[in-house]
Amino acid sequence: MSQGDAAALCFAYEDLGLGSFWTTDGEGRLTYMSPAAQALLGGGEDGLIGRPFLELFLPPDREAEGDSQRALSFALARRGRFERVIARSEAGGRGCWWSISGEPQSDGNTFTGFRGHCADITGERESAEESSRLAMHDPLTGLLNRRRMTQVLERTLTAYALQRRSCAIMLIDLDRFKQVNDTLGHAAGDALLKQVADRLVKIVGDKEKVCRLGGDEFQVILPDQEDRGVLGDMATSIISSISQPYSIEGSRCTIGASVGVAVAPFDGQASEELVRNADLALYAAKGSGRGRFRFFSNDLLKAAEDRRVLEEDLIDALPKGQLELHYQPIVKATSNQIVGMEALLRWNHPEQGWISPARFIPIAEESHLICRIGEWVLRKACEDAASWPGDARVAVNVSPIQFADSSLPALVASALASSGLEPDRLELEITEGVFLQEGGTTDAMFRALKDLGVRLALDDFGTGYSSLAYLKTAPFDKIKIDQSFVRGATGSGSRNRAIIAAIVALAKALDMETTAEGVESFDQFDLMKSLEVSHVQGFIYSPAITNDDFLARLDGDGWIIAPSGPARQRHDRQAMFRRIGAIHEDHYYPIVLRNLSVSGALIEGMVDVPLGTKFVLDLGDGQLVIATVRRSRKHQQGVEFEQEMVADGNGGLCTRHRVSPYALTAAGLTQTPGHAGPMLITRSDDGRVMLPAFSLASEWNGAALRTEAA
Ligand code: C2E
Ligand code: MG
Ligand code: MG
Repeated sequence: MSQGDAAALCFAYEDLGLGSFWTTDGEGRLTYMSPAAQALLGGGEDGLIGRPFLELFLPPDREAEGDSQRALSFALARRGRFERVIARSEAGGRGCWWSISGEPQSDGNTFTGFRGHCADITGERESAEESSRLAMHDPLTGLLNRRRMTQVLERTLTAYALQRRSCAIMLIDLDRFKQVNDTLGHAAGDALLKQVADRLVKIVGDKEKVCRLGGDEFQVILPDQEDRGVLGDMATSIISSISQPYSIEGSRCTIGASVGVAVAPFDGQASEELVRNADLALYAAKGSGRGRFRFFSNDLLKAAEDRRVLEEDLIDALPKGQLELHYQPIVKATSNQIVGMEALLRWNHPEQGWISPARFIPIAEESHLICRIGEWVLRKACEDAASWPGDARVAVNVSPIQFADSSLPALVASALASSGLEPDRLELEITEGVFLQEGGTTDAMFRALKDLGVRLALDDFGTGYSSLAYLKTAPFDKIKIDQSFVRGATGSGSRNRAIIAAIVALAKALDMETTAEGVESFDQFDLMKSLEVSHVQGFIYSPAITNDDFLARLDGDGWIIAPSGPARQRHDRQAMFRRIGAIHEDHYYPIVLRNLSVSGALIEGMVDVPLGTKFVLDLGDGQLVIATVRRSRKHQQGVEFEQEMVADGNGGLCTRHRVSPYALTAAGLTQTPGHAGPMLITRSDDGRVMLPAFSLASEWNGAALRTEAA
């Protein structure tokens, strides 16, 4: 190729806009650059020839690309070869990014300048920035996404561990979001999520601390926050803010939220552990009725482990014949006549003995074992009922998960056919949970079941959302009023009576029966009769019994059963019994907590402690409180706390602050309440208990203390 050809090739390359060649003289002044590149760099009519090459670009910006921009001046000064050095220019209001390479030229020993190549990479850079923004943010809400939040959390925790700082996270899960999505459509669901994001940001006060993990799950990170009083307040305002009505495309809707809280380093020091623990707390919050917050505590870890073990055992329970059906009579209140029996599942666990379905049905539902178990229950209940003399009905509980399974009507038909049971002797009990399941097939399922001729009962009314709207749309034959509601009705001034009266009136109007569940005493029984509840089920007639027991009892007085029980419901006051520790000077005393309130406690296990004595109570998990003895009677002391307790989100109390696990380990208090060696504890200015330098002025000599056990 001739030199002329090569030059033509270079010009063609430049004309295509792929880049430009450039040259400088020995003083660094521009001697050549394509007109297009000169124009981008601000060259007017006369161009830039003769200007110092370095000055065409912006000086290094210390904040951002400092290093790579410094690289250009460095490379030019060094007079060495350089490749793809990044530089920025700004001319005529237009910012550009450049990639520049250069090769030093010399004439013998003398440096004569650079010859190089540069290209405008603004487009690539902008799209890279955009994609990294997209990679970090949730496109719908503009909040951080899960990936980014994980990075932020990991970085924060690593840095904070060294500085021994705390960091809280909250996991937030929306309740009933699926319902909005299903009834109003996905566009409305999206609009709702955006509004939720706005409300969250408003409360947290910083968009960069809120993340949408996906679906209807959000996460908040709160660096340097460990005060559970503050965290509980924030969780409460998040829940109440999210629970305010939304207006979306002209429709109004409401949802709820549950919150799980975990605080590093107390509840985990690595991000994975912390998030898992916040998730356990969230799970517990949802399990305890939704619309609540919950702090992580070590019991939750234990409960999760127990659940896992039980889930494993449950897989074999059916094949090993450990499941049994028991039956509880449902009785017509006016005539004491048994009209039906409810089939209630029992699990005879090889090690743990009888386990209540309230404990294992939720596990079966989560692991989808419920469909297999449910099928067995349905077939067995139909078989048993077919063998009963007379025409009493059998009621079978159907889980919302079974209800969402389109093969349920076929299963019911098959159970009826193979047992020979009349369809109207089978009553399926369904909870409000079925209305909250994903998918909009509820109506079709109701119709398919009604077409088979079976009866439907709405179970546990008065727990859940208790929406009377369900009653109008779904073809129920019966409403079962939950036992918690029945129980609450006998208290003076209870609103439950009026509500039950309204339910009964509505049920009558819609031609439905009513059953009061869990009736134990005559005061409840009489009240239910006076409110004209048509049926009663409860210990006042009989607990659930085996099928054989039931058949044996039938011989005598047939289907009539007499109520018997206490005149009044005894309100069981649960005495607290929790093992804790008391630390005084260099002694650790195992004691028992009998009563706990916001400002004090009743403790037991030390004898004759003088009034005014101060010590530290170890409530476990790093919860240390300074307490002063205000009342003392033999082995019991009433103590007053120096700092009040706060709500733990689960109806209980916890300390605002905790002693960090680092300090606990140092003090030998890892397993609490456990045995601690001699230790010293102090308080910081804001009232936190700190280890390890304790000194409480007291005339009381801890060594002389007698514990009750001794
Ligand atoms: P449920 O359907 O509301 O059943 C009534 C529960 O109240 C039963 O508890 C029953 O033993 C209890 N009960 C009845 N009368 C009284 C009373 O006077 N006092 C007290 N304290 N309790 C009374 P159980 O058998 O522990 O069942 C708990 C729940 O487990 C049931 O609530 C039901 O939701 C579920 N379950 C039971 N068997 C099955 C089943 O086969 N399939 C499904 N999916 N769920 C089931
Ligand atoms: Mg039931
Ligand atoms: Mg019930």
